Amino acid sequence: MPINNKIKSIQPYKPADGGYKIRLDANESYITPDDEILNKINDSVSAVPINRYPDPNAVELCKAFAEYYRINPEYVTAGNGSDELLFVIFTAFTQKGDTVVTLNPDFSMYKFYAHIAECRNIEIEKGQDLQINVDKLIDICNTSNAKLLVFSNPCNPTSLALEREKVIKIIQNVNALVVLDEAYMDFYDQSLISSAHEYENLILLRTCSKMMGLAALRAGFAVANKNLTEALRKCKSPYNVNAYTQAAAATVLRMRDYLDNCRRQIIDSKNFLYKQLTEIASKTGWKVFDSKTNFVFLKPDNSAELFGFLCSQSILVRKIDKYLRITAGSRQENLAVIAAIKQYIGE
Ligand SMILES: *Cc1c(COP(=O)(O)O)cnc(C)c1O
Repeated sequence: MPINNKIKSIQPYKPADGGYKIRLDANESYITPDDEILNKINDSVSAVPINRYPDPNAVELCKAFAEYYRINPEYVTAGNGSDELLFVIFTAFTQKGDTVVTLNPDFSMYKFYAHIAECRNIEIEKGQDLQINVDKLIDICNTSNAKLLVFSNPCNPTSLALEREKVIKIIQNVNALVVLDEAYMDFYDQSLISSAHEYENLILLRTCSKMMGLAALRAGFAVANKNLTEALRKCKSPYNVNAYTQAAAATVLRMRDYLDNCRRQIIDSKNFLYKQLTEIASKTGWKVFDSKTNFVFLKPDNSAELFGFLCSQSILVRKIDKYLRITAGSRQENLAVIAAIKQYIGE
């Protein structure tokens, strides 16, 4: 059976294998729920009738999500992680040959889905400061007649973020559908989630995988006006979110105090890691980027060498070209990675 050419060039997504004592490479939450929380999750999962198909529209889950963010559930579509929703968005809103604008560095999956959908991908290189140049972005989208623009805010991997007003300027001035990936917006305060339905051309994505610490469940959400929501629901597979995930994620979304606490702890952890790395950078001349996420992005003198050294200490971080991305971990994990970096610079 011949394999399509477009598939041949794809490198499979390969998360790092185990064996590392400390893993700060995937921006997961370091918090594991205590027994009380776990028991509540387990109780909700035990009540699932395993012989029945799940609710195709994940109504309870969407309601719990909408309640948590104080929005209307009519604008919410649930997915098997926001990753699946990206796939559905490309299926619903692009056709072969359409132009898709992405930025670099940004979340690598956008390019992948554009490729699978056989779109023409224009990738805008960010400058040295890694900020998004809003006017240039708008101009390129419109002169290239882009059908879809997708970017993350706050950005993975740069950890930088645009203020709300700047994002609104982009949405209002491009002719394209804007897919605004707010996977890390729980760590910042410039979300557009409350007003997403007011824009004709906006789909906003959120996930339970980062601040909420539910990466294993695969629960993500799209928020958009009724017209776009209807198109998304038509194009997704009917039972895309399994019943265990629906039950467990809805339970956690209804634990506001628990989630607020998770958010605070992770931000504290990030601030600690950021401060320590900034101190190191002031001695070495490395660059540390201002972080609005649960990770710190830095540019050491030699990213490959530092990455290799950390691996040798059984600490896994993420190397992205000349940069390293380090997820905020537990106090002990943060201290370990800082100690290792200090050892590396000979301090
Ligand atoms: C982690 C991440 C996602 C994936 O979220 P899932 O809901 O786990 O699929 C999406 N976008 C960005 C920018 C991410 O970093």
